[in-house]
Amino acid sequence: MNGNAAAAMRRPTVAVRVGAVTIGGDGPIVVQSMTNTDTADVDATVAQVAALARAGSELVRVTVNTAVAAAAVPRIREALDARGVCVPLIGDFHFNGHKLLTEHPACAEVLAKYRINPGNVGRGSKRDAQFATMIELACRYDRPVRIGVNWGSLDSALAARMMDENAHRAEPRETGEVLREAMVISALENARRARELGLGRDHIVLSCKMSGVQDLIAVYRALAARCDYPLHLGLTEAGMGSKGIVASSAALAVLLQEGIGDTIRVSLTPEPGGDRTREVVVAQEILQTMGLRAFTPMVVACPGCGRTTSTYFQELAQKIQTYLREQMPAWRGRYAGVETMSVAVMGCVVNGPGESRHANIGISLPGTGESPVAPVYIDGGKDVTLKGEHIAEEFQQIVEHYVREHYGTGA
Ligand code: SF4
Repeated sequence: MNGNAAAAMRRPTVAVRVGAVTIGGDGPIVVQSMTNTDTADVDATVAQVAALARAGSELVRVTVNTAVAAAAVPRIREALDARGVCVPLIGDFHFNGHKLLTEHPACAEVLAKYRINPGNVGRGSKRDAQFATMIELACRYDRPVRIGVNWGSLDSALAARMMDENAHRAEPRETGEVLREAMVISALENARRARELGLGRDHIVLSCKMSGVQDLIAVYRALAARCDYPLHLGLTEAGMGSKGIVASSAALAVLLQEGIGDTIRVSLTPEPGGDRTREVVVAQEILQTMGLRAFTPMVVACPGCGRTTSTYFQELAQKIQTYLREQMPAWRGRYAGVETMSVAVMGCVVNGPGESRHANIGISLPGTGESPVAPVYIDGGKDVTLKGEHIAEEFQQIVEHYVREHYGTGA
């Protein structure tokens, strides 16, 4: 029932194990997220990690920036385990990661992966030693690392060196081009160094996050062509609201369609008091609408027009989408394959029956001036016509019954 055309073949990569999750290899594209709580605040961080995991985040990254935060990480892990939340935690380190991981072995032990930003490992002569310490700790604890280059913190010494070399070329390249190449070189050189320090090929994930869509596409294409490490894909500083969602979707869709990207994060700026889990939902929806993975039954809804002058069908579409998403944590284990189900909620009979036939279950609500009945289609055939005051409730019951009948094991 899914109308997606064939998706691109994934570029072959080494498989990297992060706890019980695999990034790259034959594994599915992994959805990950990052908390925005103070990691030192154990209760707040546990609550947010649990919410992100419940929304479907398969890995969750936490900031580890102070000794207090590093000391809190084992307590966060313990509290999550006590709640039955087994999502692997990733530590995000900048500047003092070598020190925190050395001085807090329990933190190093419970983290499933370390993120190292080569531009923020240390300055001058300290840089190499501090990078080496982090890699040696990753080897000691048998943990993978993400070498995560970021446009906002590109290694300044490397950038200066490459700009200098460029200035001496017979035909110097544009600054932007040189800096994009510096992003790629930073990731590859640091991966090579990590290998020389003893880290296995299957313990390295790379990323080169940019804030511009075209820059990101260019950099990841170059990176993908020059290595077989799995790639963590994400547009950094994507922004707020629709701009952040659109920019992330535009950038990620182009690369994913080319088979580039093994794990994704959508970096949305939440509205004040907004829900952090939105970034997980958007990441899942990018993958699902592209036909690359399925997470939650999808609702197909028409935009409405002058033929629907009431908000009834919009409310029903929203209610059904919310209902389906809320059921998923319980349904995931009980109803295998339910995440591939599609439900159409249409505003009138112009496109309603046609779209309904393409979905597993579809309903066409009465448009303005149409008789107050709502035909329901199941697996392409007309099943029943709902009418009266309780169309929404009856339709939800039909969906529930369909799920039990088609995806239940009888247990
Ligand atoms: S299905 Fe009907 S209500 Fe919905 S957009 Fe089309 S014509 Fe308008």
